[in-house]
Amino acid sequence: MHQVRPAAPQLADIEPYDPKYLPADVMISANENPSDVPSDIRREIDHEVRRVAFNRYPDPLANELRDMIAEANGLSRDQVIVGNGGDELLFNTALCWGGPGRTFLNLPPTFSVYVNNAQLTNTRIVEVPRNPDFSLDMPAVLERLERGDVDFTILTSPNNPSGDLVRLDEAKRILESTDALVMIDEAYFEFSRQTVRPLLDQYENLIILRTFSKAFSLAGVRVGYLLGNERVIDQYKKVRQPYSVDAVSQAIARVVYRHRGEFERGVERIIEQRGRVFEELSATDGVEVFPSQANYILFRVDGAHEVWQQLLDRGVLIRDFSHSRGLENCLRTSIGSEQENTRFLTELHAVLDARR
Ligand SMILES: *Cc1c(COP(=O)(O)O)cnc(C)c1O
Repeated sequence: MHQVRPAAPQLADIEPYDPKYLPADVMISANENPSDVPSDIRREIDHEVRRVAFNRYPDPLANELRDMIAEANGLSRDQVIVGNGGDELLFNTALCWGGPGRTFLNLPPTFSVYVNNAQLTNTRIVEVPRNPDFSLDMPAVLERLERGDVDFTILTSPNNPSGDLVRLDEAKRILESTDALVMIDEAYFEFSRQTVRPLLDQYENLIILRTFSKAFSLAGVRVGYLLGNERVIDQYKKVRQPYSVDAVSQAIARVVYRHRGEFERGVERIIEQRGRVFEELSATDGVEVFPSQANYILFRVDGAHEVWQQLLDRGVLIRDFSHSRGLENCLRTSIGSEQENTRFLTELHAVLDARR
């Protein structure tokens, strides 16, 4: 066949994102909500979607949705931007604050998408690994920022996959120590009920990421948003694909956001189940569990990769992190429905008992 010249060199080391989406009876690997949007809200969505003119371009900035999010957060429209999932906004962060000759400070182990985006945009990556309990190595983080060459960093709160929060005093010290853009990724904040939003008035360099994918059951619809200061949000307007959030997604997100209070019961159920799964894992011999403020729990077990495979053979798909640096022998289970969690715990005990 006639050959094509090589793609851009920064692609050479990049693995396509593939969270090993394997079919299983119990899918608790991707931190999805175990429940779909309630049926009465689905009916309202159907009605709203029927009114969308498919032949017309959508409102590029999704202003109606922006206004709803702004109002709920005590902000103005200019302090909010909506994206095609949080993932688009993470990529746009690398476009806005990264690029050739610029530097991203990564704090691993954390969400792997950050490093991918830095690589794609030819951004230099410097790292300050977390402590063994996944807390931030604050002296090292501050020392690294004080050198002055970091352009942006991302603190994940709760962190994925470890589940721990960034402490408010630590977030403040980091924001104060640098003029780099500091993103706090609050993709799971509905499960931790903690936010740094009140800090937005004091720190122009703070930006907060949220998503409809987790608490609001819309992983399949792709809507996320940023809260930030106007001058920061203005930069995001420049790099975004004009119509990245389609008219149908905007309509769905508006209905869901209007009814967001009705998702509170589901969030409470997940928080309750998180406590139960944590206790049962803690009581399991040979398992080390990390406390979580999110809708997933990280745990460590000898021979983790084999445990993961044996769970899958028994119909339960969780996430294997055992090959990631700093996460040796670690697996992550999302908090599913009560039945799904029971099945996971039963199969895990069976797998571990069979090894004794
Ligand atoms: C899920 C997640 C996101 C955003 O996901 P989207 O589905 O793209 O909105 C962002 N950050 C972290 C840490 C996540 O786990």
